[in-house]
Amino acid sequence: MPEVVFSVDQGKSMSEQAVPGHNRWHPDVPVATMVRPGSDFRVECREWTDAQIGNNDSANDVRDVDLSRAHMLSGPIGVEGAEPGDLLVVDILDLGPVQAPQEFGDAPGQGWGYTGIFARENGGGFLTDNSLGGTATGEVADRIAREGARTVPARENGGNHDIKNFTRGSRVFYPVHVNDAKLSGGDLHFSQGDGEITFCGAIEMGGFIDFGVDLIKGGMETYAVTTNPIFMPGNVEPRYSEFLTFIGISVDHENDTNEYLNATLAYKRACLNAVEYLKKFGYSGEQAYLLLGSAPIEGRVSGIVDIPNACCSLYLPTAIFDFDVRPSSAGPVSADRGMAAISS
Ligand code: ZN
Repeated sequence: MPEVVFSVDQGKSMSEQAVPGHNRWHPDVPVATMVRPGSDFRVECREWTDAQIGNNDSANDVRDVDLSRAHMLSGPIGVEGAEPGDLLVVDILDLGPVQAPQEFGDAPGQGWGYTGIFARENGGGFLTDNSLGGTATGEVADRIAREGARTVPARENGGNHDIKNFTRGSRVFYPVHVNDAKLSGGDLHFSQGDGEITFCGAIEMGGFIDFGVDLIKGGMETYAVTTNPIFMPGNVEPRYSEFLTFIGISVDHENDTNEYLNATLAYKRACLNAVEYLKKFGYSGEQAYLLLGSAPIEGRVSGIVDIPNACCSLYLPTAIFDFDVRPSSAGPVSADRGMAAISS
């Protein structure tokens, strides 16, 4: 096991750790520690809501989650010699849920995980201030709160890449925009698909990442990697050989209107078609939505040139079901599929 350079006590908030987490990207967030190019190290993380979700049968905690203090990352880890214009080479050597002696407990990742659908009404506080800037204090902390960018979305510097194949064995080439590169990590997933459709979009957990880092000096210009990283996927993904694929086009069937080459609408239609199909097998709409939001499905942009309709598809692996999910003349077998936790 590599040296732990950022440790997390799963019994404490990210704001109370020895080095507090940060939920803003800003050049002035102080480095938590420095590492050398060529080194391997471990970073421990808390689950993305900072463990506001409990291991229980009510969804009230998901409904009431405070998103303003969510998404606190572990880091930043400074890389010696990294300068703007370099490429930071990051190997994800391993990752997983919380390890011994903290492997069981109340925080997600301590032997359990969850996924959820968030209420449309919650999210209004999403861009409001509850800024955490690591160890920054005083004027620096104020500047980070004023100018910093939330860590929640994907961004030019990297940010939140919810990509199915962004897993153990991946190698990422990040454009370096600040001295020391300042690598941070968090929001780990036990399982997820491509084409994230719920706000969780995965089975959420706290845990660890083992990183290896190196530098390609001046690599941004050498490889024309200026605004977003490139990466090589790991080879540990589950490999499926058979899929049931749902197709959607950019037509809003509720209002009977075409939205010219709108790939988001086309993908939404593919998802809704899959949800309606799965309901025939006994799932509630919410269950089907949660399943599509956490299983290793593959969402694809299939065609965006044949005007006026974009065409997107959702590949559902048939092997994730313990019954035959394919259409046949015998018809679907509707059974009791249990139920998801709901809010009161
Ligand atoms: Zn997540």
